[in-house]
Amino acid sequence: METTQETAAQLAQPHRKVVLTALLWVTITAGVFFAGLNFLFGSQALAFIELLMVGYSVFLLYIIRKTPHLERWILAYVLPFFTAMMFAMTAPRTTPSVFAWVLLVPILAHLLLGRRLGLGVAIFFIATAGIIFFYKHGDSPELMQPLPIANIIIIALSILAFSHVYEISREKSELGLFLMAQTDFLTGLANRARFNDIFERERRRAIREKHPLTVLVIDLDYFKEVNDQYGHEAGDKALVYVARLLQKRLRATDLACRLGGEEFGIILVDTPGRRAMQVAEELRSALETHPFEIGADSIAMTMSIGVAEFGPDGDELRAMLAAADHRLYQGKAEGRNRVIWHPAKQPELVTPTAPTADAS
Ligand code: GH3
Ligand code: MG
Ligand code: MG
Repeated sequence: METTQETAAQLAQPHRKVVLTALLWVTITAGVFFAGLNFLFGSQALAFIELLMVGYSVFLLYIIRKTPHLERWILAYVLPFFTAMMFAMTAPRTTPSVFAWVLLVPILAHLLLGRRLGLGVAIFFIATAGIIFFYKHGDSPELMQPLPIANIIIIALSILAFSHVYEISREKSELGLFLMAQTDFLTGLANRARFNDIFERERRRAIREKHPLTVLVIDLDYFKEVNDQYGHEAGDKALVYVARLLQKRLRATDLACRLGGEEFGIILVDTPGRRAMQVAEELRSALETHPFEIGADSIAMTMSIGVAEFGPDGDELRAMLAAADHRLYQGKAEGRNRVIWHPAKQPELVTPTAPTADAS
């Protein structure tokens, strides 16, 4: 499973691309401007270096539009950019005001590299700038006063702290929204969108590693009667109860989701049809033997399950869900509270990848 950190990094990519693009444009504009000035004032070497930076920025602007390795390219820009800033500070003719640039470091580092790497890079370059400052201006009595030094240190640390805290909170709220968009609000299970995503990922893995993969479609039997008899609210609680029961009995690698209403879908990774049939049977029997207790009531529920296997029942989610649904309704027709896998004869389900006739 993807770690939270990886998901956060994935989600941050579009923001980082925007910030880097803006930064590259700033570099290009400023680079051309200063190269022109330096050329006019006779500093050809400096003008040449600035034009090189402009060229590199144009190149990066082109690269980052499509690269799958954004983080690497960000580092390929940020590290030389910050290093150049440090060299500018060591230059003999620069005034102390050039150190104001260092305040950009924590902001850019956090926006472009996230909270961990951003903090590390920011601390490294701020410390370097500090060392350069004392080395260069240590013998200047008007700068080496407690008040200006304290001012500089406090403002640098404040910007560092605010950038870091902001980035932590941004990442957290973005992750929260992302998880919310993938979660069923009633049961807390994955929703259909997440089910689709995970299936796609597991499908690729199943092909790559030649592992079996199965899908279960579950529909509660006569659920309308639960609502009619105990009320909609109790019905909702019954759905939460079923969701917990499913989750409790599945492996951590399997995924249970609420497909909608009183229907659930389950992805069983690395599980062949025959084994999936046993898992489904365990789930069915668990619900049958564990009624939902609410107040003084005991609500007995059962479920019908259709099983579909990746490969024999198709190699796309749509085809597999259709096969599982078909079996589920066969189970309903045969009296409910049962698991159906590979029904007697259904040639159209054996070759589900063939295009369907009614494409209207
Ligand atoms: P069958 O055995 O044929 O599946 O019978 P059923 O009554 O379960 O099937 P049907 O599709 O006719 O009805 C499903 C019912 O599930 C309809 C609705 O009252 C109930 N239901 C769907 N979503 C929710 C929900 O979010 N909360 C509650 N309380 N009930 C729901
Ligand atoms: Mg239903
Ligand atoms: Mg039902």
